[in-house]
Amino acid sequence: MARYRDANCKLCRREGEKLFLKGHRCMTDKCAIERRNFAPGQHGQTMRYKVSNYGKQLREKQKVRRIYGILEKQFSNYFKDAERQTGVTGEQLLRILECRFDNIVYRLGFAPSRKAARQLVRHRHFSVNGKIVDIPSFQIKPNDIIKVRDKSKNLDIIHGALKEFGQTEQIAWLRLNKAALEGELLEYPKRQDIPLTANEQLIVELYSK
Ligand code: SF4
Repeated sequence: MARYRDANCKLCRREGEKLFLKGHRCMTDKCAIERRNFAPGQHGQTMRYKVSNYGKQLREKQKVRRIYGILEKQFSNYFKDAERQTGVTGEQLLRILECRFDNIVYRLGFAPSRKAARQLVRHRHFSVNGKIVDIPSFQIKPNDIIKVRDKSKNLDIIHGALKEFGQTEQIAWLRLNKAALEGELLEYPKRQDIPLTANEQLIVELYSK
């Protein structure tokens, strides 16, 4: 399975903003954006040019793709899926991304980052509706119950993340039962309930060319 293996912080520096790819470190002054807020590479500090419309659309797509940790081909397949569905394409795209299993595990607070959530899923630490699921891209549906498996209930990474990233209280479309280490997707998220600063319309414009 192909995946991005270079430094995560380079991705944030290229986009010029925090993408929160590393969990706790992103909240500290060790964050690369705090220390070196310029694009990576030899000419990163001297790059000065006017960004075209196409450039803005491309950067927005790259930003969202990198936030969710998805490679190009899969992202464009998600876009095609979103186009086929009724409703606003950009919002459907974000809904598909948000309902990925690894993202839901992250949003529930079981992992400090999407990357960590992905690894936990791959290592079979979760079940969905009582069945083990180890596919990070698995689409979660409303009323699905996500549970930490009994053998994984003592994992420090899960308890540490729950303690530090107890953010789920603010996410209306998710329910978390911390004591039972289980969560539920209550309904598909609406755009205004997705905590993501991105202009998905630019992505739609990019793929519509
Ligand atoms: Fe991005 Fe986090 Fe690295 Fe900061 S520490 S540059 S937010 S991945």
